[in-house]
Amino acid sequence: MGSDWFDFSGFLKIFWQFSWLQWIMFSILSNAFLCLFSIGLYQFIEKTCRKDLLQEKNHPVTRSDFYLSLLTVFCNSLVMLLGAFLWKNTWICIDQNPSVASVLLETTALILLMDLLMYFFHYAAHLPFIYRILHGKHHEHVSTNFLSLFVLHPFETLGFGLMILALLVSYDFSIISITLYLFINLVWGTVGHLNREFFPESFDRFFVGTTRFHNQHHLDESKNFGFYTSLWDRLFGTYRS
Ligand SMILES: [Zn+2]
Ligand SMILES: [Zn+2]
Repeated sequence: MGSDWFDFSGFLKIFWQFSWLQWIMFSILSNAFLCLFSIGLYQFIEKTCRKDLLQEKNHPVTRSDFYLSLLTVFCNSLVMLLGAFLWKNTWICIDQNPSVASVLLETTALILLMDLLMYFFHYAAHLPFIYRILHGKHHEHVSTNFLSLFVLHPFETLGFGLMILALLVSYDFSIISITLYLFINLVWGTVGHLNREFFPESFDRFFVGTTRFHNQHHLDESKNFGFYTSLWDRLFGTYRS
């Protein structure tokens, strides 16, 4: 089955004609919007979810968290611009005619591959000298708050972005798979830093990287380096339920 179910090529044509100034504005605005969406989603679940807190208190929101989050939005915009540059110069090619099955396969592949790459990247970020410079700030949040997801060193944000771009350069994903993956990533990052379990307990059994799973990493930094799934942690012996 072809892409008659939805025509995205018209969309892509509009983006193809963007000037660089338009790209800069689009990337900053869309990334700022996504950050606000994450904060809104976090607050909405906090207000409506009746489940018990994982840790007694939320981490207090500090001024430096706020500035660091702004920097993360800026870095994500840079990654998007680099992606646009690679696309315009045909380093990244978009599959314009995906079937529903290939969209599902590609999105699953992106989740599992990024989970594996992030596992190694995250594991390396916990080596003492890298930890002190790069990752320590994120772990000042032993408990979490609505900005924890964005409290990252710029190199972490750029590193994550470069990993996605590397995958996009090596295979022609469809724009739907890429958008779906990025949306899942944002929701997962938001839910993963809630201070209450969002997923049913049974999800642990299906290797889902639940809120408890990542919260456990903030409590015991030698365990649970994966993010979307607990698959790689189970495989490499760093899993803690
Ligand atoms: Zn975290
Ligand atoms: Zn960590």
